[in-house]
Amino acid sequence: MAEESNRKKEVAHSLKSEMPAKEVKDGVEISNPLEIVQRLIEVAVNDLDLPEGTFEILKKPKRIMKVSIPVRMDDGTYREFEGFRSQHIDVLGPTKGGVRFHPKVTEDEVAALSMWMSLKSAILGIPYGGGKGGIVVNPKELSERELEELSRGFIRELEPIMGPEKDIPAPDVNTTPEIMGWMIDEFSRLKGKNVPGTVTGKPIILGGSEGRVEATGRGVVFTIAEAAERLGLQLEGMTAVVQGFGNVGSVTAQLLAERGVKVVGITDAGGGVYHGDGLDVEDLLRYVKEKGTVSGYRDFDGFSNDELFSADCDILVPAALENQITAETGPKIKAKIVAEAANGPTTPDGNAAMEQNGVFVIPDILCNAGGVTVSYFEWVQNTTHLAWTEQEVNERLHTEMTQAFEDVFRMKEQKNVSMREAAYLVGVERIADAMKARGWIK
Ligand code: GLU
Repeated sequence: MAEESNRKKEVAHSLKSEMPAKEVKDGVEISNPLEIVQRLIEVAVNDLDLPEGTFEILKKPKRIMKVSIPVRMDDGTYREFEGFRSQHIDVLGPTKGGVRFHPKVTEDEVAALSMWMSLKSAILGIPYGGGKGGIVVNPKELSERELEELSRGFIRELEPIMGPEKDIPAPDVNTTPEIMGWMIDEFSRLKGKNVPGTVTGKPIILGGSEGRVEATGRGVVFTIAEAAERLGLQLEGMTAVVQGFGNVGSVTAQLLAERGVKVVGITDAGGGVYHGDGLDVEDLLRYVKEKGTVSGYRDFDGFSNDELFSADCDILVPAALENQITAETGPKIKAKIVAEAANGPTTPDGNAAMEQNGVFVIPDILCNAGGVTVSYFEWVQNTTHLAWTEQEVNERLHTEMTQAFEDVFRMKEQKNVSMREAAYLVGVERIADAMKARGWIK
């Protein structure tokens, strides 16, 4: 008994800043996203004193499907691509989450990402569980025809476990509305009827929602505005740097600039640019459309990720991949607000460093939940055969995001914990409430 409560305490404090700065295992910083999310969930389960079995159920996905997708390449040869779909838990509703195309996708990563989706939806009060898919591929190396065959092949494998009431894919890293169009077409053909509600982030003409493309970035900016307000800061005139200039990073940068924030630095996979007076984000976007990277833009070139994380600025937005704020980059952060637009950008060490330095962190599972929120709106529109205006979508998104921010902030104040821990507490508590109501835990 005493041992158990000691263990609980140990876990509960393992992510706090009083702990030794470095969390290492076998001499290596903990960076496996699955391990990171499991630890955070365990802390929340223990803090909430949830019944026996809660963590056992939550600690891994209920299903992970691993598939091999054959594609006939343009040169006539065949290649097999490995893909995954993870479904974490469906206690609040069908599983939901994007599909990423990336050469470094792993099963553990997809599992962790599906768990983050469960938490995101729970925090936003959306009736979904978490899902996530990934294909090990560099899409830039494929022709459009090859990419289409790959996307359709993935859906053929997933068909038995997909559906508007089962599991609903959407865009993620390197996947687009166009790809969602192929996916929804493949699924509908297999079913012999139109099933628009089984993929979100579709082109508008196929039942996609107004505002979905911008939704994640828009939500990020709503949470930054809330954070600034809590800190008594004025958004206008603040400076920001953004890591990643894909869908989420570029929309975030654009909307920050619209609000009078000076976006001084941006990096992407190809390089980085810096301009102390603020970059012209629209102009940079036009450049990137042509060149595929920010690198080489005017004479602002040569801004590294290292410089980005240690930049003298008010807002830092990691909008790329996992494990960017680490034992190495975390202590260098000077920004007042870190808005985690990416999923899992921070390791436990990176988190401890930011906490120690009093950085206001908007955790990923709150910060980037705008995407799944508008995906939910899209699914609701598909189900009711109605189409909302962009203004309606954006207003509802604003209401949902500010409410979620408020819920997490209140938990932070109540329990005197970090925003991240508070977000996990809110998410895990709601999932556990549903588990209790279904009789899964007593
Ligand atoms: N891929 C996005 C995310 O990580 C959106 C998922 C969705 O719309 O279902 O939240």
